[in-house]
This record gives sequence, structure tokens and C-alpha cells, in this order.
Amino acid sequence: QSPGESQPQTPGKRRTRLACLTSGGDSAGMNAAVRAVVKMAIARGCEAYVVREGWEGLVRGNQDATAHVETPATSPPLAGAPTAIDPETSKKKRGGFVATYGEGELLKEGEGEQTLRGRYIIRVGWDDVRGFAAIGGTLIGTARCAAFREIEGRRKAALNLVRHGIDALVVCGGDGSLTGADKLRAEWPEHMQALLENGDITQDQYDTYKHLNIVGLVGSIDNDMAGTDMTIGATTALHRICDAVDSISSTASSHSRAFVVEVMGRHCGWLALMAAIATGADYMFIPERPPTAEDWQTSMCNVLSRHRDEGKRKTIVIVAEGAHDCNLNPITPNDIKDVLTNRLGLDTRVTTLGHTQRGGNPVAYDRILATLQGAEAVEAVLSSNPSTPSPVIGIRENKITRRPLMEAVAQTQEVAKAIEAKDFTRALSLRDPEFEDCLHAFRATTRLNTEYRVPESQRMRIGIIHTGAPAGGMNAATRTAVRYCLCHGHTPVAIYNGFAGLLEGNVAELTWLRVDQWGTRGGSELGTNRALPDSDMEGIAAKLAEYQIDSLFIVGGFEAMVAVNQLDKARDRYKALKIPLVHLPATISNNVPITEWSIGSDTSINVLVDACDAIKQSATASRNRVFVVETQGAGCGYIAMLGALASGANIVYTPENGITLKQLVDDVEFLKRRYQQDVAGKSEGRLVIRSEKASKTYTTEVISNILAEEGKDLFDSRLVSLGHTLQGGVPSPRDRTRAVRLTVKCIDWLEQQHGSKTPGAASIAIQGAEIRFVPIAEMIAAADTKHRRGKVQWWTPMQRLVDVLCGRINLENEP
Ligand code: ATP
Repeated sequence: QSPGESQPQTPGKRRTRLACLTSGGDSAGMNAAVRAVVKMAIARGCEAYVVREGWEGLVRGNQDATAHVETPATSPPLAGAPTAIDPETSKKKRGGFVATYGEGELLKEGEGEQTLRGRYIIRVGWDDVRGFAAIGGTLIGTARCAAFREIEGRRKAALNLVRHGIDALVVCGGDGSLTGADKLRAEWPEHMQALLENGDITQDQYDTYKHLNIVGLVGSIDNDMAGTDMTIGATTALHRICDAVDSISSTASSHSRAFVVEVMGRHCGWLALMAAIATGADYMFIPERPPTAEDWQTSMCNVLSRHRDEGKRKTIVIVAEGAHDCNLNPITPNDIKDVLTNRLGLDTRVTTLGHTQRGGNPVAYDRILATLQGAEAVEAVLSSNPSTPSPVIGIRENKITRRPLMEAVAQTQEVAKAIEAKDFTRALSLRDPEFEDCLHAFRATTRLNTEYRVPESQRMRIGIIHTGAPAGGMNAATRTAVRYCLCHGHTPVAIYNGFAGLLEGNVAELTWLRVDQWGTRGGSELGTNRALPDSDMEGIAAKLAEYQIDSLFIVGGFEAMVAVNQLDKARDRYKALKIPLVHLPATISNNVPITEWSIGSDTSINVLVDACDAIKQSATASRNRVFVVETQGAGCGYIAMLGALASGANIVYTPENGITLKQLVDDVEFLKRRYQQDVAGKSEGRLVIRSEKASKTYTTEVISNILAEEGKDLFDSRLVSLGHTLQGGVPSPRDRTRAVRLTVKCIDWLEQQHGSKTPGAASIAIQGAEIRFVPIAEMIAAADTKHRRGKVQWWTPMQRLVDVLCGRINLENEP
């Protein structure tokens, strides 16, 4: 079957026509969502459509739209777009070749606007969404549509959907767009009745399109939707903000200046709060929690002058655009500037970040989130029925969720109402748990007063130690631990250079100011290595006793977990070890068992994805080339797999799956056929990601050589080894904020354990929608110590999604 040729269809079975649109303000990751929806829809046997310009496009429809014609048994390629599934090979799994490819309308860049003038509802094929995941904004356009707010406008939209035979809709937008979606769905029977009575649709059409299934995806940079921890685009916006504030920080410090940075967020302070935590800002203003005192000016000056008294040379205040005082009077950046200038005598500048926050390429997390949610949206829309409410796809900690769209929208609007009613406690309670945790962490790490101190008898000397390889966010964890300890009246004790350093007595107390700049730094300021305590347990116990360590906070990966286990097991022998021990997983490999997420892994996936973007681009500019990219990750394929998902790699090799000769043959065939399908004269780069320990025999070089040899005139191959670059330079905001949040929980846990006759030894773990402390024995029991990874790894099913999205698996006949 050649490209663009259509597939035979089961007689009497109409394919679902699934359309996707983006609406409201754009956000990075919307394109990745569209890509995932289109590809998943095609893989599921649907005909995929996009609606350009959001609701506006749906209301306008296509100028040349005629009455709907039922899909013929063999559907011709509509408007040049290909159909996708080759049933002959659909039963094959990996190594099969199921998608046919071709060029659709959306690829006609440059002439696009002209070609598409007057056409908003467009059939799309597999390759139309090629490369979408890496691009910011929304390539299918978005708009605000006044007409859709009116029932007549929504009726027109309904008519256009019926005319195009579309029976399922995935809408990616903010709460306004999703409210519109829910209205359309709720009014659907009414619209259909009216259209029938008016003669706009036939009885046949009425019977066929009695139901419309709609699913919402939340695309919004504000992260303001209730019921989901994260919206598509918020993380990228946070990256843009943190990049800017990090840059401002160095100049502020040079000149000893104050900067007031305004960030987006009319009703939601998520960006301001997370940016404040990630960048180590001194003060912030958000709508949900205005300063409690009417005289916010004095409260702010008290905090900031204490910071200056400690010796700080810079002052950073972050303010959400919707900030106000407790009486709802706006607090503007200039108000703050005037106070800082007049009352504290600080040389103060205002920076408004504005639309830079919306722009740029999506970061890895937004690509992954949008891809997972886009795929889930297709599953949700296909499994919906008239009696189920329209769902919105969300995420809780690390679990993709579905919940009724209207419930989520109503709860979101409740926040604005609570703020209006000055019920700030309620406004906060409606935000996700991360929000309150982070607010608490920010206050505790910026306030120098004594109000949070625990009673004298409960104060501890808390040892802070790093073990294993460095990972982005380790320093943010140390900074938080030090600040939080001081805030609660404990003494933070740095143990430099891991357990080897402890044996050498490389130990010192840390101060509030000393760690000020650490939050944004990569690597490990304390120093870290692979030495384990059982090399000299007696010496370790003696040193802990010598420095009067009451509890230990251990940051690191697999080694750190093993270290805690060794200390725990030696407790019967050494009294000094009978102290609470807590482990914060931090490793780029994300190979610690049970926890689904370790600090540092987000930074490394971002490095990988950025590198892959650049690598792909170089091929597109020159010739057809397959790049075999080698990643670190020890015995764990997490970075490779998630990196493949985020960068749209065609093939991924992990240590878990290994590599076989048969698989290599299949993969060569797959790439050959894929290049044969490409548009003549257009160079394409494709990616293969190989985890360094995927196979001893089939090394990155061997694979690259095989591909180069077999690709003949179709493609050549090059290898790229990313090596230690994956440990990252500047830690990602997500690694920093998670480090802060989890560290606070760890210190709280140490406080709870302090004084117990049988103090615990545990790791903090994110598991599905929960954060919990897992006893170290349970961690070890869940570990595959030979391969140094968890026995069960949550992300392994993603292999299937990687295969689906590169067109190797047909899901049409799968449940
Ligand atoms: P953002 O997060 O960027 O504000 P949003 O989706 O909330 O995104 P809005 O401007 O509120 O952005 O909504 C986008 C479009 O959705 C509107 O232009 C309108 O067409 C439609 N819409 C919004 N609210 C409603 C509503 N209550 N009823 C019907 N349609 C609506």
C-alpha cells in the first residue's frame, strides 16, 4: 500500500471522526497535545481533523462545506491528507509498519494561510503533525470567539461538526474554552433538534450524530485549573520566568539593587509562587494569599531589611499581575518599587516579563504531559457515552486523571469568587496540595523571625549529606534544609564530600546567608561521592557522635538508599546511629525504587530534549540522517524512554528491554520504509535513543554503523554521546521546586521521629497521586540490586506509546 492510499474499511462501520482544537490564550505544549491526539486518533482507527483558530474556526466552518457525505467504504485521501493504517501489518507489534504517510495541508508552510483561507476544519494525516512537539504556541491557531459565547454561534458550530461528520472533539484551552465545550455538549440535543426542524440537517444526520463526545485538555500558562496539579504550558512559562530572574539576580547582586519582577497570573499565583521558590526570591505577592496586615508595606520592609541585615546584596520581589492587598486594592510593581526606594533606600528597578512567558519551545515536561494527556484524551473520547459527563484530563503528582469537566471548571471559578469575597483561606484550600506546601516552604525559608521555632527540647543538630553522583536540585534541597532548620530552631550541619568526608571530619555548621545562592546552582556544593558507610561503620558512628548529630538528611540516588539501609542495619551495634534517617531521592537516572520521580531527572531530560532538537535540526538542514543518541542512566532506561517520548524519537533502546538482532533488523526495515515515504527532496533527521547499558554487544557505535550501512541511499547515520552533559548545568525549575517541597516534608518527618525510641529510616517517595515516607527495608525489597533499579518501574508501559506515536503499532482492534 502506497502513501496516501486509503485503507479498506469494515463494511457498515463508520470511522469515528475526531477533531482537535486549541482555544483561548496559547501555551507551550499545545502542539504536542495536537500531535498526540492526531496520531493516537489515527492509530485508533479514527479519521483525524483539526479545527483552526479555536471556536472561531468551528463557528465559521469551511466556505466550501457542503452537506455531509457519508464516508465511503474506501475513503479517498481528503484534501491531500493521508489515511493511516495499513491493516495488512496492523497485527504486527514492534517491527511492523502500520502507518502510511504523506503530506497533508498543514505542512504547506508559507503558503498555508492562502491555501487554507476560508477553510477551518481540516482533515489531517500522520505527517501533518510531524515536529509539532518541539514548537511553542499553537500551529493550528487560536482565537477568542465572541460568537461562541452566544447560543446561535454554538448552533453554527454544531452544524459545522455535523456537516463534516465529526462526532468527537478534543478541546485544549483554559477554563473559558472548556466552559464553552461543556455548554456545546449540554445543548447538543437542543441544537440537533433545531437544525433538523430548520432543514439544516437530514433525519439521517440527526440519527447518526445524536451524541457528541467532548474531552478537555487544560492548556494554560497560569496553572489555574482546579483538580489538576499542572496545566499544559505552565512549566515552560516557569522556565522562562526563572531564566529571566536568574539573569536579573546576578546583575542585582553586582549593583546591590532591588528588582521587582511582575509575572503573569490574574487570579492564580502559581507562577509567582513557584518562581519565588525556584529562584530564591525574598518576597512575593499572589492573589490567593495577600499580606495579612493592612500595612503590607511595613510587613514587606521588615522582612527585606532583615535580609539586608544578614548581608544580602540583592533583593528580589516577585509579584503576580493580579496581586492585591487584603482589601483587594491592587498592589502594582511600581507601588512596591516606591516603598523599596523611599523606605529602604534601595536602588530599585521594575521588570515586567509580559509575553516572553508565553513564548519559546516547550520544555520536556510540557511535551510529555501534553503527549500523555493527548493520548488519554483520545481514549476518553472513544470510551465516552451519552450518559457520562464530559471529562477533563488532569494530573495528580504523577498520575494522569479524568474528572468531570464542569466540576473542574466550577471549582476553578470558585477560587476567583473566594478571592472576591476576601475568603483567602478558601481560595487557598481550592488549590492543589503542592500550592500550600510551597507557600509554607517559601515563608519558612525567607523569614528570619523566631515565631516558627520549636521548643528547646525538640531542637536537633541535623546532618546534611550528599551521596552518589551529582544531580540538579541537590543544592536547592540543601539550601531549603538549612533555611528550614534555622527557621525551626535546629542547627544545620553540613557534611562535605559524603561519608568519606564525614570520616575525615569535613563537617561544619551552615548559615542562612551561606546557602543563599545555592538554590539555582547545579552539581553539589557539599560535594558527593560513592563512598558507603559500611566501609567503616564504626568510624561513621564515632563521627556522628562527635558532632552530636541528632538526625540525618541524605540526598542522593541508589547509593544513598543503600547507605541509609546500611546505617539502619548497624543501629543495634552503634548507639549514635539510633537517630532518624531520611533519604531524598536525587539522581538523573531516576532509578530509585518505589518513588516515581527523583530530583535531577527533569533537568537531564531537558538537556536531552534540547540536544535532540538541535541534532534533528542539523539533519533537516543537510540530509537524511539517523542520529543514534546515547544517554546515561545506569541500568535504568527512564531518561531514554521519557526523552524519546518528549523528542519524538523513532526508536528507543533501554537496558530493561535490551537489544536483539531480530529487533535491529526490524528497526532497519522500519527506518527504510519510513524514509521511502518521505516527501522527495526534503531532508529529514530521525532519532534513535540508546541508553548506555542497553546492550554490551550492540553498542551505540555498532548500531550507528549498521544503520549507515543498511540505509544506503536512503539515509546515513551518526552517533552522539551526551555523556555527563545530562547532569545538567542549571537545575530545572521543576527539580528546584520539587527539591524545596520534598525537603520541607523530610525535615518535618525528622522532627516527628526525633525522640522516638525506635526512630525511623525512610525514603520520601512520590507514588501515583501520593507522597509518602517508605521504610528503607521496603525500598530495598523493591530494588533490583543487580541492575540498580526498581523491580517495577512505572514508566515501562511508555514503550508502547513511543511505538504508537512513531507509527509502529496499530491500536484499531485493541481494547
Ligand atoms: P486563558 O487561560 O488563556 O484565559 P481561556 O480558554 O480561559 O484561556 P477565554 O478567553 O476565557 O480563554 O475563552 C476562550 C474562548 O472560549 C472565548 O473566546 C469563547 O469563544 C469561549 N468561551 C469562554 N467562556 C465561554 C462561556 N462562558 N460560554 C461559551 N463560550 C465561552
